[in-house]
Amino acid sequence: MSENVVELRDVSKVYRGEGTEVIALSGLNLQVERGRFVSIMGPSGCGKTTLLNLLGALDKPSTGEVILDGVDISKAREGDLPKIRAEKVGFVFQSFNLLPTLTALENVELPMERGRVPKKERRKRALELLKSVGLAKKAESKPTKLSAGEQQRVAIARALANNPAIILADEPTGNLDSKTGLKIVKLLRRLSIQGRTILMVTHDRQMASLGDTMHFLKDGKVLKKEKKGTLAADRKDVSLCPQCNKELSPDFIVCPYCGTGL
Ligand code: ADP
Ligand code: MG
Repeated sequence: MSENVVELRDVSKVYRGEGTEVIALSGLNLQVERGRFVSIMGPSGCGKTTLLNLLGALDKPSTGEVILDGVDISKAREGDLPKIRAEKVGFVFQSFNLLPTLTALENVELPMERGRVPKKERRKRALELLKSVGLAKKAESKPTKLSAGEQQRVAIARALANNPAIILADEPTGNLDSKTGLKIVKLLRRLSIQGRTILMVTHDRQMASLGDTMHFLKDGKVLKKEKKGTLAADRKDVSLCPQCNKELSPDFIVCPYCGTGL
């Protein structure tokens, strides 16, 4: 059965200043099912960042409903937004935003420190996440010792730390060359095949086309929606690991869960 992890109903966002009013979003409706990989495209100023701010519980809509994994952001108290954000959302940024003084492992552990996970557990989980993005060997490296693509992979592992309902990626390939960028989007796609819900803003049509659905925003409204793939469970390109039976994309040569060669 399909389940919407994101639901926006008739959302508007108006920025009011002294004698000015900017309508950034108006009459916006959007549903995203769990396990989808959704790309959002549109010209500068069309409201992409505003939309991500609402989805990331960084801001509340002026009118309408923003429901994130069953929680209505529009009705939440301002003071509750950070907790909702920490529990439900993982962010991936254009400029990676890793802390330079911490190792890759410590960067991935950091978001877990808000919760009540014991230190040993945190370390174990952070290592598993780094392994899942192919960076177990770089756990002790500081960001400056990593390539741009590796830094973005650490950032993706960090975004997964608290097992969020959605991953929001704002131009995640904007600072990468096209080959590395493609690898990053394929990694996001692989995560969605494993059941993660991903929303990615991008200017790059090739990257966007790797999503299941592309939404084109214009003047704060979804102008056009193109459907491509199907839900993870229906996809033909999903195979199962013969050892642990987890879903995998065919790109794998080693199962990221149990290490079995495929
Ligand atoms: P995009 O990310 O697609 O470039 P934004 O969501 O940043 O678009 O902006 C949408 C519109 O809202 C633009 O006209 C922008 O100038 C305006 N805007 C964004 N943030 C603010 C703000 N904090 N105050 C006033 N206007 C804003
Ligand atoms: Mg923007």
